Amino acid sequence: MTIVLTPYWSNGEQKIKVEPQAPPPPPQGLLPPAYAHAVHAERSLQQLRSKTSPIEKNIFLSQLKDADLNTFYKLCLANMSEITPLIYTPTVGDACLQFSQNYRRPEGLFISIKDKGKIGSILRNWPRLNEARISVVTDGSRILGLGDLGVNGMPISIGKLSLYVAGAGVRPTSTLPICLDLGTNNQKFLDDPLYLGLRQKRVSDDEMDEFMDEFMAEMTATFPKLLVQFEDFSTDHAFSYLARFRDRYPVFNDDIQGTGAVVLSGLINAAAIANIPARDHRILFFGAGSAGVGVAMQLVSYFTLNGLTVEEARERVWLVDSKGLVYDGRAAEVAEHKKYFSRRDYTGAPLKDLLEIIEYVKPTALMGLSTIKSAFTEPVIRAMAANTARPIIFPLSNPVRLSECEFSETLEWSEGRAIFASGSPFPETTYEGRRRIPGQGNNMYIFPGLGLASILARVSSVTDSMVEASALGLANSLTEEERALELVYPAIERIRDISACVAVRVIRAAQKAGVDRASELRTLSDEDLMQFVQKKMWYPL
Ligand code: NAP
Ligand code: MN
Repeated sequence: MTIVLTPYWSNGEQKIKVEPQAPPPPPQGLLPPAYAHAVHAERSLQQLRSKTSPIEKNIFLSQLKDADLNTFYKLCLANMSEITPLIYTPTVGDACLQFSQNYRRPEGLFISIKDKGKIGSILRNWPRLNEARISVVTDGSRILGLGDLGVNGMPISIGKLSLYVAGAGVRPTSTLPICLDLGTNNQKFLDDPLYLGLRQKRVSDDEMDEFMDEFMAEMTATFPKLLVQFEDFSTDHAFSYLARFRDRYPVFNDDIQGTGAVVLSGLINAAAIANIPARDHRILFFGAGSAGVGVAMQLVSYFTLNGLTVEEARERVWLVDSKGLVYDGRAAEVAEHKKYFSRRDYTGAPLKDLLEIIEYVKPTALMGLSTIKSAFTEPVIRAMAANTARPIIFPLSNPVRLSECEFSETLEWSEGRAIFASGSPFPETTYEGRRRIPGQGNNMYIFPGLGLASILARVSSVTDSMVEASALGLANSLTEEERALELVYPAIERIRDISACVAVRVIRAAQKAGVDRASELRTLSDEDLMQFVQKKMWYPL
């Protein structure tokens, strides 16, 4: 049986045809007489939709992935907006909370602090040693907004890797989910007889550093072609391990760099709609954790490549944390990762209230990365709309119940002038007779393409210029129709095309930086490189 799969998400000029060979059918009699592989996806979709709660759907999909990988990914690709929230945020949060209760089968590697000194021998137990190309690694210390979940963080690594496969066609057999067990400070878990991790508190920073050094060295020795993506480490460790390893190994932190790139891309397109160059915006960050500071750093890097000095670029950014405006000389302590953006030009009394801060800063763009629901109140949005004709309002906190504001109210309070993108999806709406579609600043626009590019170009490290290229690739992937509708991000259903655009730009940036080890790609024309990337994408049968 040969199925010709013409992906409907392909746009006209980049149409690709995949004619995969189906696996040999099982011996006669094992399948019902009218069983047809092509129809089975529809049956599975109906089974999925018959489940009522998101977590049951998540469990169903997880078992489907195990039993019938091709059908699982077929469903993902054909129903992207319905299925991604079930296999990643927000439902993966419940999957993590209940991991020790719902655990069914091995699906990744657990490396614990007790393995220190022999980490390599554990890694070599992975059954697909030669095939591993990308690993998502978490230590479970800050899972989404749920805090320290210890080894219950494993579904984050598994879920994210499913999105690399669905989003960019990374081969499923090349993915390696890893959860590190360095203890947990979650007392409820420590007391739970079903909890699957070590019964001990988290180790000290020194001990963790030693462990991480050995882990990364052994990962590279065991899997020479592996890209490592760090996920959901607590903020200080997220920054410190990225800095520690990024020049030595191909590593990438999605919470910092992926978020930075996706928001930069949204800002570039929003700035075009507002008709003010991105580098001329005054950008206020409400929330200064790994996401907020990661985005701020990405913007500065972009502004400097667009002609500003580092000092000028940094002056475009104001941070607000739980203690108010971040500035030098404020009484409340300023954490290490925020110091770079601490304002030197403000010397007054502490500014705590967001409205007061907006009146002082007069921002043209407001980014919410605070996890504080409804923090962007009506007066806040009105104050933003008073500053500028098209205020950029990005309430990026997830899940939707933590969003700093909602789409329809933001339109109302800004008389329809706001350019809006959120972290979680909001439905489109009509404002004064015009169709308005909110953007979703989903990291999934970035990391699959960035990961695939890093694998294909066999990079020795992931440079800032590659991350920036991913943002530009995404910003450029909007179609004319999407631009006419004032979209800030493209339709997620086109993810494979988007990932291909991202990947091509990233490979070029890697080549420019000299970190690529696939020299055969250097001589390809842009068109040939695009074809090469698309041909390498794995598709379900
Ligand atoms: P985080 O490390 O917990 O950071 C939260 C930040 O918000 C901290 O700086 C915190 O201040 C600040 N904050 C807390 N309460 C505040 C208040 N009342 N007023 C002002 N600031 C306050 O979290 P994160 O990892 O950076 O993520 C933040 C949010 O971004 C999450 O909801 C996440 O879902 C979302 N996110 C979205 C995307 C996306 O849309 N693509 C990607 C990544 C993350 P202190 O520093 O003083 O504690
Ligand atoms: Mn994360």
